Amino acid sequence: MGKTILVTGGSRGIGRATALKAARLGWSVAVNYVRDADAAAEVVREAERAGVKAVAIQGDVAVEADVIRMFAQATEALGPLDGVVVNAGIVAPASKLQDMSVERLRRMFEVNVLGAYLCAREAARHLTKNAKGGSIVIVSSVAARLGSPGEYVDYAGSKGATDSLALGLSKELGPDGVRVNAVRPGLIDTEIHASGGYATRALDLGSKMPLGRAGTAEEVAEAVIWLLSDASSYVTGSFIDVAGGR
Ligand code: NAP
Repeated sequence: MGKTILVTGGSRGIGRATALKAARLGWSVAVNYVRDADAAAEVVREAERAGVKAVAIQGDVAVEADVIRMFAQATEALGPLDGVVVNAGIVAPASKLQDMSVERLRRMFEVNVLGAYLCAREAARHLTKNAKGGSIVIVSSVAARLGSPGEYVDYAGSKGATDSLALGLSKELGPDGVRVNAVRPGLIDTEIHASGGYATRALDLGSKMPLGRAGTAEEVAEAVIWLLSDASSYVTGSFIDVAGGR
């Protein structure tokens, strides 16, 4: 059955791979981004080439008004949503907690925690109005259970919060027919590592993973798409680690 989904942070990396996989299944996609309009436009063009409706929507997930507008624009362009991928997230350069500035901590929690909660809140408001129900997939991280010592305990904690969000919201929304699950990627080869100041991180650390390599955005997207699809109709409050055994 064709679906309509919104992917936050859909312009690059895991969000992009998810949006394009959805398009190839015949699903309409809203592609949110914050800065890289060209990358988002390219995802939209590729989705349209697959024969589906697609729209790029600028908005900072940490800003409430942006998030509310993002959902309104998505439904106006594509119709009622069936699925939302709460994916946008950031890291910062490796550091010990004792050396982290309050500005860094504030931005980390604003984007990864407040942003995820605001997007999940709007998703709940929209999907509970859909008679067919819906599916919310939160992109967390294995950092939530590893803690990321010496690298980024701030990031790990932000992802711990989104794991709790997935658990609690799944119970809140179950009676409305809205499923909520999380995917926890491990070391995935995307540009997030460059934005954290270590562009070759996935290449350098890949051999230390149990499967001997970093994962790809497409491998994570497989799990996200399954959780959005009707194939996972009895799955809620669950976590799928796509982490090569880490
Ligand atoms: P990425 O390649 O850096 O892409 C990040 C995406 O999020 C981009 O589309 C970016 O938009 C968007 N974004 C960033 N801040 C935003 C904001 N404030 N508002 C709206 N959009 C924003 O990252 P990725 O590796 O695909 O990561 C996606 C998710 O997976 C994140 O939640 C991340 O924590 C999680 N994850 C990644 C890994 C990994 O190893 N890659 C591992 C575990 C978990 P622009 O293009 O406009 O900048």
